[in-house]
Amino acid sequence: MKITQIRTMVLTGTDPSGMGGIPRPWSVMLVRVDTDSGLYGLGEAAHWQRGYFGVREAINYVGDRLIGKSPFDIKRTIHEHFYGALPPHKPRTLPATVVTVGPIVWAMSGIEMALMDLVGKALDTPVYNLLGGRFRDHILVYLDRSAPANKADLGAWRELALECRESGFKDIKFDIDHTAPDKTTDVWSRSMDRAQMRAVVERLSVARDAVGWDMNISADCHMCYDVPTSIALANELAPLKLKWLEDPTPVMNQDAVRQIRSKSPIPICVGEMFTADQFRSWVGNEACDIIHPDVLFTGGLTETAKIAELANLHHIPMALHNNSSSVGVVAASHVAAATANFIGMEYHFIKADWIGKIAWRGGRPLIENGHVVLGDEPGLGLTLNEDVCRAHLAEGETYFG
Ligand SMILES: [Mg+2]
Repeated sequence: MKITQIRTMVLTGTDPSGMGGIPRPWSVMLVRVDTDSGLYGLGEAAHWQRGYFGVREAINYVGDRLIGKSPFDIKRTIHEHFYGALPPHKPRTLPATVVTVGPIVWAMSGIEMALMDLVGKALDTPVYNLLGGRFRDHILVYLDRSAPANKADLGAWRELALECRESGFKDIKFDIDHTAPDKTTDVWSRSMDRAQMRAVVERLSVARDAVGWDMNISADCHMCYDVPTSIALANELAPLKLKWLEDPTPVMNQDAVRQIRSKSPIPICVGEMFTADQFRSWVGNEACDIIHPDVLFTGGLTETAKIAELANLHHIPMALHNNSSSVGVVAASHVAAATANFIGMEYHFIKADWIGKIAWRGGRPLIENGHVVLGDEPGLGLTLNEDVCRAHLAEGETYFG
């Protein structure tokens, strides 16, 4: 079997609950890998702030290189594009001066996902079997609801938290930076003053009180704060027994996060845009408690499974960051199924029906009672929902089927 074509398709629409309860436009880029056998694979590729920043161009570049190649050589394809090869470069192999960051990694993530789907279909087995088999078939989803639109209304916090619980979720996340923006005194300072911190604690306490102590609640700082603020925040929030505090400071500074981790009573979670090389350093330096890779940013499912194994050797759990459509959500679920140290996968789009219905799952809903339930369909077990895709084609796009 040979690869004959790699194509992309961009869909757009609205995410009604957005960030902080404010609607936002959203985009999804899908990837399709075709072969001379008639079998094809589906994947999803990352975007950043709704822009593609060369990811599509990088997919086209890699796609041209893969025409005529076997879809089975997945690890070699990733390795060549992240690490290159030594001379003599025959035929057309990339040199060892390639990079493991940025759009090429995000492009490879989408392509690898489609290759895994394709190989699973060719071997008539689910993708989790290509990753070593499954530990579980019910994949715990944590619902990211950010914050209610009216942040100062404690009743809105209570209602939002209860809505999550009543829709079957046992694991939810809010955004610290969207919890009390009405109390921000200086948008350039990473320090939070007493009034804002008190409002953050009060509002999240209402959510905890509403859902009780058996629900998991996490909080994302979106890299907003400085070291002393992050440490103070972790201590103030400690009575709420949060599952984790995420990305307190800008995460390129590992030393800062390690300082926070050493003084935080709440586990510190990082890594939503990291690759394997970055996780090697963070895990090896004991700079975080929980890793949080995203299959759209690591280089794909194989790379994410490798990262999970690394963390498992250090007895560090793995959550999965995710702001994908149903394609990326199901793909990440296959990694979660094959990962012993998995503790929860993110989902955002509970209010954006179209994003969760981009692909069908053989009649199975995307999320059932707070879990993605995997079956034994070959590959990712997905078929594109033509009506939803056509209704959301971005300007100038054509449906690739
Ligand atoms: Mg985050």
